[in-house]
Amino acid sequence: MRIIETVAEMQAFSREARREGKSISLVPTMGFLHEGHASLMIEGKKRADILVTSIFVNPTQFGPTEDFDAYPRDLARDRNVAETAGVDIIFAPKASDMYPRGFQTYVNVEELTLPLCGASRPGHFQGVTTVVAKLLNIVMPHVALFGKKDFQQLAVIRRMAADLNMDVEIVGMPIVREADGLAMSSRNAYLGPEERRNALCLSRALATARDLFLDGERSVGTLRDRVLRVIGEVSGAVIDYADFRDGDTLEAVETANGRTLIALAVKIGTTRLIDNCILGEEQ
Ligand code: AMP
Repeated sequence: MRIIETVAEMQAFSREARREGKSISLVPTMGFLHEGHASLMIEGKKRADILVTSIFVNPTQFGPTEDFDAYPRDLARDRNVAETAGVDIIFAPKASDMYPRGFQTYVNVEELTLPLCGASRPGHFQGVTTVVAKLLNIVMPHVALFGKKDFQQLAVIRRMAADLNMDVEIVGMPIVREADGLAMSSRNAYLGPEERRNALCLSRALATARDLFLDGERSVGTLRDRVLRVIGEVSGAVIDYADFRDGDTLEAVETANGRTLIALAVKIGTTRLIDNCILGEEQ
């Protein structure tokens, strides 16, 4: 495994690999890698000759009061996780190389970024789509893999790739969870022991709603009440959003079906966690 730290070197590597007829897969991350990231890498390795993972805590997707500075970073540990998962190249650029002086071009996806995290984190998705577009231009992958943990992000990136005719296959991968149901996240490192227990209310709320749905309940009002009740039982859990939306368009729905998305963002203490499920999909 090799670590590439500059945009120019990464582009030169990919250009040469493509010239040799090799296929490239890309798993973009912000590092502090866990098994969720590793699952994307293992699949990425199967889908191409060369697996690149980027590790870049992207400043443009954090709001001014968000956790950019505090975001956990551990490149030494990440190297081990990536190597074990079969990564060939870690691309770890500096912010000054990604956003040099004079930078002023951004990618915006419109409707899909309005609800959910787009509403509670203004500017977040513009930062995400811009950095992903840049990474796709730099790494030039044939395939790029993203987790359904960030469901809206995956939808937004698919839209961007289609709308801008990007010559890359976007692959969505299932959410990897801890044994007790908590969706893996680098931000779980922020949780103290009691918060870690409280954080289970997200996956518990989703499972409760999903069980009700599988028993035949279709009223979003009823399902939402149950979700709110499960989360409300936990003191120190503050809901940012608990939304029922169409899994393709992200439009609000009042009657649930198998493609209905339940998307949660909940603050546990100072840590904002997200989780989601599609009601008709295997978990
Ligand atoms: P991040 O480093 O949090 O930006 O995540 C990088 C990629 O890993 C994104 O595509 C995430 O959706 C994905 N990812 C993060 N956590 C999980 C998880 N628990 N299961 C599956 N994919 C994940």
